[in-house]
Amino acid sequence: MATVKYDESTRIYPGNDAPSVDRLNIDIADGEFLVLVGPSGSGKSTALRMLAGLEEVNGGKIWIGDRDVTNLSPKDRDVAMVFQNYALYPHMSVADNMGFALKIAGVDKGEIRKRVEEAAKILDLEPYLERKPKALSGGQRQRVAMGRAIVRSPQVFLMDEPLSNLDAKLRVQTRTQIASLQRRLGVTTVYVTHDQVEAMTMGDRIAVLKDGILQQVATPREMYDSP
Ligand code: ADP
Ligand code: ADP
Repeated sequence: MATVKYDESTRIYPGNDAPSVDRLNIDIADGEFLVLVGPSGSGKSTALRMLAGLEEVNGGKIWIGDRDVTNLSPKDRDVAMVFQNYALYPHMSVADNMGFALKIAGVDKGEIRKRVEEAAKILDLEPYLERKPKALSGGQRQRVAMGRAIVRSPQVFLMDEPLSNLDAKLRVQTRTQIASLQRRLGVTTVYVTHDQVEAMTMGDRIAVLKDGILQQVATPREMYDSP
């Protein structure tokens, strides 16, 4: 079961006095889409990277299911992250980009092909599997980045401002696609954005951060109803 628990989780960067994430407590349900929202510098990326294992935790713990993952390396956590800049390999085809992590993990070729094909179908990328990333639109590249995460069937899916490189129209379209994809896959998801509308339209619940401190966790409905 892929619940996630931030348990007094704290991050103080070396040389800083104030914590960037200060005793964060959030319980995320299995299959939930949780959005971390807040202004620039509020600690959203840090909180996400702590869950990914990319940032050291200086206090408290982080749990995935009943496992304390606080000190586990990223590859031992069963999480997959989609970054803002997608970080696709330019010299590899779409299919090879999507299969690369599995190849590194030693998954056999037939199984990789199968998972890449399934992900391509879900993401409407089937016609583009043999193309290089530069021959794709921004929205297509964004879906390849998602595909690369999906093929690993992670327990937890992490996204850090995945729409920030898209124009306004495509952003609206893509946020709907991501939300419906997440619901179809039922994978526990933590999604970072500074955009309140994005947060309200996509999240099952929204966690608001300010200066590293959690202000509120609520459903969009509850947020809408409260002043
Ligand atoms: P957000 O994602 O909400 O913009 P961040 O998590 O990136 O916020 O940053 C939170 C705070 O931590 C900010 O004050 C930022 O300056 C600080 N910070 C982020 N990364 C580092 C770092 N590598 N070293 C020192 N301070 C950092
Ligand atoms: P390699 O290039 O490593 O010898 P492949 O040609 O089988 O092996 O492709 C590399 C990886 O990308 C494989 O793991 C493969 O499953 C996946 N892949 C390549 N082309 C496709 C495709 N058209 N459809 C689905 N998966 C593909």
